[in-house]
Amino acid sequence: MDKEKKNIKRREFLKGSLVASGALALFGTGAFILDNKAAENIPREDFLRPPGAIDEKDFLYGCIKCGLCVQICPVQAIKLSGATEGLAFGTPYIEPRMQPCDFSCDALQCVETCPTAVLDFKPFKEAGLRAVEEAAAQPGADLSQVNPFEVQKVAMKEEVRIGKARVNKSTCLAHNEQGFKGISRGKDFEGIYRSPNSDATSASPLSDRVFNREICNLCITECPIGEKAIYQKLNRSGKLVPHVLDGCTGCGVCQMVCPTEDASIVVEPY
Ligand code: SF4
Ligand code: SF4
Ligand code: SF4
Repeated sequence: MDKEKKNIKRREFLKGSLVASGALALFGTGAFILDNKAAENIPREDFLRPPGAIDEKDFLYGCIKCGLCVQICPVQAIKLSGATEGLAFGTPYIEPRMQPCDFSCDALQCVETCPTAVLDFKPFKEAGLRAVEEAAAQPGADLSQVNPFEVQKVAMKEEVRIGKARVNKSTCLAHNEQGFKGISRGKDFEGIYRSPNSDATSASPLSDRVFNREICNLCITECPIGEKAIYQKLNRSGKLVPHVLDGCTGCGVCQMVCPTEDASIVVEPY
């Protein structure tokens, strides 16, 4: 082998070694980051999971990241988390400020479709059946007038506990005795929902709705659950303000519709 060939071989060997060490270093760093991320993010108590999610730790290991809950949601409220989320990578969550669960599927389809039951349908089924039995047991109940599907639908929806909404009194318009006029999140906002104040059978853009309130109460009037979840209360200072009850499902419609720059009502996970 002449000197030139020897030099080429040496250069190739050095290049190969450098690439290999680089790859090892990258792999090491990646593994370190993932390890740290995983450690940071298990369990992801800050994630709002879809309705019926079981305990976070069990959810994390039981969810097979199939994405069926994402596909079936008619308002596309469910997203899959990204690669920076450690072991929570690929698991479903809801970001209500952008798109809440508005119950417009009517039957918790994400829960029904989940093949692993990490979104557990059992409590909803039981709540639905219980409500039908209670409706039928009402004194003087006319069973021909009881629509079991409607009764079950309402009961199942009310059973959801994604989290609970909390009002930020310092920024809430009502707490500051202010009203709201206009399109709450601007005309380009893409979030949709089925307003309880319309006859629509499916969700439509929030940007289609123009509000005019002397004292802001959008979180109250647009809540799909109604007075079991949130109502307008006269506080000690004589202001009409939103008050959240334990019947709040954490659906997040209030968080989407709130017109302040950062939402003044935010769903916190249980
Ligand atoms: S349907 Fe169930 S298993 Fe599939 S991604 Fe959703 S929660 Fe996970
Ligand atoms: S929509 Fe927002 S600003 Fe208006 S009352 Fe509710 S929390 Fe306050
Ligand atoms: S207050 Fe109503 S709209 Fe807001 S999260 Fe609770 S149930 Fe949903």
